Amino acid sequence: MKSYRKELWFNVPARRRIVHIQPQVEACLAESGIKEGLLLCNAMHITASVFINDNEGGLHQDFERWLEKLAPEKPYSQYEHNGFEDNGDAHLKRTIMGREVVVAVTNGKLDLGPWEQIFYYELDGKRNKRVLVKIIGE
Ligand code: ZN
Repeated sequence: MKSYRKELWFNVPARRRIVHIQPQVEACLAESGIKEGLLLCNAMHITASVFINDNEGGLHQDFERWLEKLAPEKPYSQYEHNGFEDNGDAHLKRTIMGREVVVAVTNGKLDLGPWEQIFYYELDGKRNKRVLVKIIGE
């Protein structure tokens, strides 16, 4: 069995942003040379998510509005977590959007549904953060 590991680095110049990372993930898969197996892609930070959904701008605005209703960023004082930080909302949003995705690898390609695309969701940005790509198979 082959094993491949790579970290993708991001520095998003905004507090929150959805970044389409499928091209980078596909580049990892090509570099790995693995044709059959499983690909794991996870945010390595507890205020960021990796998720799969539609690459459609309206939907991405809907995610933002929905998350702001569930866990509004402000006022910062509403969160017990915000004693020394201001990112209590980002931890909660990350929990809703999830930590990782796992995708089957078939014939050297990501075996996704027709509209499935992989995204990084920065929820507390303006600093360097990492996404792990791990691929196992043969
Ligand atoms: Zn925090």
